[in-house]
Amino acid sequence: MFLRLFFMLVLSAGIAACASTPSSRRGAPDFSSLSLCRGVVISNAPATDHSRRIANYDPQASIQGTVLLRAPVNACVSSGFGPRRGGAGSFHHGLDLYTGRPSAVYAGGDGVITSVDRLRGYGKTILIRHGGGVETRYAHLSSYAPGVRPGTRVRMGDVLGRTGDTGNATAVHLHYEVIVDGKRHNPLTIGH
Ligand SMILES: [Zn+2]
Repeated sequence: MFLRLFFMLVLSAGIAACASTPSSRRGAPDFSSLSLCRGVVISNAPATDHSRRIANYDPQASIQGTVLLRAPVNACVSSGFGPRRGGAGSFHHGLDLYTGRPSAVYAGGDGVITSVDRLRGYGKTILIRHGGGVETRYAHLSSYAPGVRPGTRVRMGDVLGRTGDTGNATAVHLHYEVIVDGKRHNPLTIGH
């Protein structure tokens, strides 16, 4: 059921791109809604409607002239940005997007890959520099796509690799960060 929904989304995105938006990037995902994962307690969950969809969700953000996907993977939100209550109660500097099994991770926007590295905590991680002092980070990956290395130029929607649980992760998900002038922001609310 979920898989079928995914293909329907891809199909409708493809049709929309041909019919009305010739400037759309090839292959760029166009996930028009995003929901909280079911069956988990999310202490820092963003606001949602009655069916667990993120309230007033806009799939794309415009930040200092740079356009980014707020969630560059087909997934549900398993942790929001901000302080987590209970347990360690640490501040979460990204958005966790649970995919259940290793799934394609897309470049959030046009840019240049500046780092491909295995980092403590983050596991296999990619960093992309966009325009306007904006960067995006993709952590806990299981694998990198061919050609993904520092210096590679990417377009929004290019496949970077697949989600995983490398580093400090207990489930297969993407930890996604949006960094502006060196500071990490909430991918769901930054920009306009
Ligand atoms: Zn995270």
